[in-house]
Amino acid sequence: MASLDRHARPLGSLRVSVTDRCNLRCSYCLPEGSQVWLPKTEIATLEELASLVRAMTLVGTSRVRITGGEPLLRRNLPTLVGELAGIPAIQDLSMTSNAVLLPDLARPLRSAGLGRLTISIDTLQASRYALNTRRDSHAELLAGILAAEEAGFTPLKLNTVVLRGMNDDELAAILRFAKERGHQARFIEYMDVGGALDWDPKLVVPQAEILQRLESDYGPIEALASGDRAPANLFALPDGTVFGIIASVTAPFCGACDRARLTADGKLFTCLYAADGLDLLTPLRAGAALEEVAALVDNRWRNRDDQGAQDRLAVPTRGPSAQARELRAKPHLGMHTKGG
Ligand code: SF4
Repeated sequence: MASLDRHARPLGSLRVSVTDRCNLRCSYCLPEGSQVWLPKTEIATLEELASLVRAMTLVGTSRVRITGGEPLLRRNLPTLVGELAGIPAIQDLSMTSNAVLLPDLARPLRSAGLGRLTISIDTLQASRYALNTRRDSHAELLAGILAAEEAGFTPLKLNTVVLRGMNDDELAAILRFAKERGHQARFIEYMDVGGALDWDPKLVVPQAEILQRLESDYGPIEALASGDRAPANLFALPDGTVFGIIASVTAPFCGACDRARLTADGKLFTCLYAADGLDLLTPLRAGAALEEVAALVDNRWRNRDDQGAQDRLAVPTRGPSAQARELRAKPHLGMHTKGG
């Protein structure tokens, strides 16, 4: 029986950050100089992460998404995937990646039992990609998408964080790119969380405007009932192509949020905006049984009251939710540490 929080939300899905490290420096997540990495000595082993996930299934978690930083940087990741795929309670095992390392890892991850892949692609332009990520690996991203397709990860979900003045002129092109390959595009409103040090409401392209712009290219768009607790609102083009919009800024979905986050150093966070987490690794290393760890999770979840994005809506003069010095002082404030 899934634990319910104070808003009767179950603990249904878990994002597991297997590393806070990343091979890109996206401007809205890891601006140069802002990142402080978690000490390597405090990072959980893959076995410990698997044990903590197993404990989470005892309180109702059935969907697990592997994230980072960039998860493919974690050595022996297919081993962890195999371990998690072997847990009967886990009905859905997915991963979010920037795809740069996928050409070598797509097949091993598939064979290990990974079910679904979401790939971050903010632009189709190599020069713009280099500007935004400070890395020249757009070709690897495209090769990674191809490798994922060849390994059988179809359809993919293609996530695009939309920033006004950076890539908002590519909405139709990115949707076409996804459509032509049989994948689902998902546009994400630029969130004021973690490393988004330059966040400004003027840089956000709201869901309503994204729809309006796409309608001018594709014709009338139909809203679809999503029916589950997934964050994306779903829409269909006149030809039936389905795409999603994650409107965390203008239409937060905290009311249905069943997501917990486990960081690479074994801390449980009950919201993307949460400043403090519950340390599960220390009790595990001290010999606690999985049921005892599960009881700690259950207690934290039952007391969960988080509605971070909803609360941010009420902030009168909204700006970045953290400053660079706060990020350096508290690395867990970073999106790259909490698994996005
Ligand atoms: S802001 Fe927090 S409560 Fe709201 S949807 Fe995100 S993780 Fe869930």
